[in-house]
Amino acid sequence: MYIRKYPTSSTKSALSTIIIPMAEQLNEYSGKATMEKITSLAKRRGFVFQSSEIYGGQSGAWDYGPLGIELKNRIAGAWWKEMTQLHDDIVGLDAAILMHPRTWEASGHVENFTDPLVDCKKCKARFREDQIPEENLAARKCPECGGEMTDTRKFNLMFKTHIGAAEDSANVIYLRPETAQGIYVNYKNIIQSNRMKIPFGIAQIGKAFRNEIVTKNFIFRTCEFEQLEMQFFVKPGGDEEWFNEWRKRRWAYYEKMGVKMDHLRWHQHGSDELAHYAKDAYDIQYLFPMGWRELEGVHNRTDFDLKRHTEYSGKDMQYIDQDAGNERYIPYIIETSAGLTRTLLMILCDAYDEEKVADKGNDDDWRTVMRFHPNLAPITVALLPLMKKDGLAELAKDIRNELKEDFATDYDQSGAIGRRYRRQDEAGTPFCVTVDYQTKEDGTVTLRFRDSMEQVRIPKEELAARLRKEIKAYKRER
Ligand code: ATP
Repeated sequence: MYIRKYPTSSTKSALSTIIIPMAEQLNEYSGKATMEKITSLAKRRGFVFQSSEIYGGQSGAWDYGPLGIELKNRIAGAWWKEMTQLHDDIVGLDAAILMHPRTWEASGHVENFTDPLVDCKKCKARFREDQIPEENLAARKCPECGGEMTDTRKFNLMFKTHIGAAEDSANVIYLRPETAQGIYVNYKNIIQSNRMKIPFGIAQIGKAFRNEIVTKNFIFRTCEFEQLEMQFFVKPGGDEEWFNEWRKRRWAYYEKMGVKMDHLRWHQHGSDELAHYAKDAYDIQYLFPMGWRELEGVHNRTDFDLKRHTEYSGKDMQYIDQDAGNERYIPYIIETSAGLTRTLLMILCDAYDEEKVADKGNDDDWRTVMRFHPNLAPITVALLPLMKKDGLAELAKDIRNELKEDFATDYDQSGAIGRRYRRQDEAGTPFCVTVDYQTKEDGTVTLRFRDSMEQVRIPKEELAARLRKEIKAYKRER
């Protein structure tokens, strides 16, 4: 949702009463992850690096390494499949990041997409007003140094730049702060080109930019991020039913992805959080190591956006229902809006586990294992020859070549086999295949399962079918 509203201190306690759990949920974080461990593993294993690190880093921006981009693509792919392939009434779109500046006047972003900011005159620290303790705010005293605080002022979160050679006000352009508006301005094009009939949806994955002041907690809140948004167009009057339907579907989706369901809950927006256009709004919150935080919003945006675009563009945004005697109306919109990069952080935290696997009294007793769903794991299967010599490496590479058309594979021949398993556990690889001397004799390999560490011996010809079966039947035990 784009017009940000934060609960005021007087309503913060009241808001906690409208948190709606769907399953037995935890009160406190009980997992093994900490933000420090996640950040360090992400860097060590090539999931996420700090942007421009050699220059001291760029705050609010992160780079996705070899495992990170695979994970990000799989999360995006799973969402895309869920929203388009599995729904006959939803189509996709990839709109430009740069849009006509009138778009953002119509949407209300130019006027309203602001955060309330307060500065300390002494130490120069900057805070969002809602994050300052009540007593400090009342006394206008800095929570960090006790210095005098400025009055609250509105700070627009849109990145503003210029298009073309002249840097004047006629050439102002914004980096989009949400992908939704690209969908609204194209909704008539899509109806015409694809013969869509209401109710129908448009899905989009893309970058969004917000000039966030507080960007702590790794990739949770960044200035450049990606969104997974779906806008569903419905007849006015049918909006409440569709709103509830989409809440159900989005909840079921996380269950299907294998997310720990006791780490999810609903949070309904209170009246002072609700954007002016929204009739109802619920967030799906996840229990991160730093506490419950928003993961995705499901919003009933009414006919606000399309009405505003009619007003600002002069174009008729009404839907003409040919099956109902050419009845005309501006559709209502149900939005499901999740952050792709924030979902990636959630998946990292959700998958992270530490397990005692031996009792020798050294560091090797413990393994760190990323329990990704096999559909999301950056590497599905790793090929490990027991030795480099005697033709085992060649044999393992041949098997890899046979599997790589259908699975994301890796190959590792360096170090003791136990260490190689640990490396794959940390990367979240659900299956390892070891090739040894017996393979040369009878063509069998060892298939090792990440979660249980169980090993089975099977003919190499059966590998592909077995992997497919295991992926389909996967259920997380821990
Ligand atoms: P928040 O309250 O966390 O700032 P929001 O209510 O402003 O989020 P929306 O505008 O509803 O968020 O955006 C939809 C989703 O996009 C959010 O649920 C979140 O997952 C993601 N998102 C929003 N802002 C950011 C950001 N700065 N960095 C990463 N992801 C973000």
